[in-house]
Amino acid sequence: MSSRFTSRLLLAGLLCLLFISPSLAQAAKAVTDPTPQQALEILKAGNERFVAGKPLRGHQDAARVQQADASNQADHAFATLLSCSDSRVPVEIIFDTGIMDLFVVRVAGNVVKTDEAGSIEYGLAHVHTPILVVLGHTKCGAVSAVSSQAQGNNLVLERNIPPLLAPIFPAVRTAMHEHPEAKGAALLPFAIEQNVWQSVSDLFMMSPVTRELAAGNKVLVKAAMYDLATGKVNWLPQDKVTALLQAAEKDPKRVVKAMAPLK
Ligand SMILES: [Zn+2]
Repeated sequence: MSSRFTSRLLLAGLLCLLFISPSLAQAAKAVTDPTPQQALEILKAGNERFVAGKPLRGHQDAARVQQADASNQADHAFATLLSCSDSRVPVEIIFDTGIMDLFVVRVAGNVVKTDEAGSIEYGLAHVHTPILVVLGHTKCGAVSAVSSQAQGNNLVLERNIPPLLAPIFPAVRTAMHEHPEAKGAALLPFAIEQNVWQSVSDLFMMSPVTRELAAGNKVLVKAAMYDLATGKVNWLPQDKVTALLQAAEKDPKRVVKAMAPLK
């Protein structure tokens, strides 16, 4: 019996109990094949439980560990997320999820270069998650460092950090251009949001399969901002994601080869 078929049998049983137990409802959603919109609603509901201080903490027990060992994650994980490495943004916790729920890429400043784009392609094209969330967060140290440097402060950073942070510079320059009144630390919130858009744009430019899945409505690409002060995930305007996808599709500099040979 295939694991997906087993999941469907489990789902049928769980659906009967949907209105009895919220934790079972959560489990049922996690084992079915949610649409992009349903996947978004699961994430929103999880963050609301987290903010309310009423997390279910599902999928975190020994049974789930055993299930994960015996499963194909593609039958269960329902979202791919790109977020910052910052310890204050523990992705599974803030969405009240557990083992085998999220395919997570974490990197300082939630930047997108080859490694991150390739990891996201795994999440979308192989784990088949119907949603991708690019998640920035308030008070991001990586964006703060670049913002400070771009405003004339000479920072000396360890050997590998400047190339890591390089993709953030265009975002900071855009924020400075759009908000000339914002000086010093006042620029940071604008730079942080612009950096999320930069990552979405960089991904669309680098990843033909991401463009294809997003344009075909197979994957919903969402941009969001995590507020350290409240624990809330604030969802950014969808029309901007759409505009960035359309811009990338027309840009001659976009990567057009779908596959590269393994070497
Ligand atoms: Zn950060």
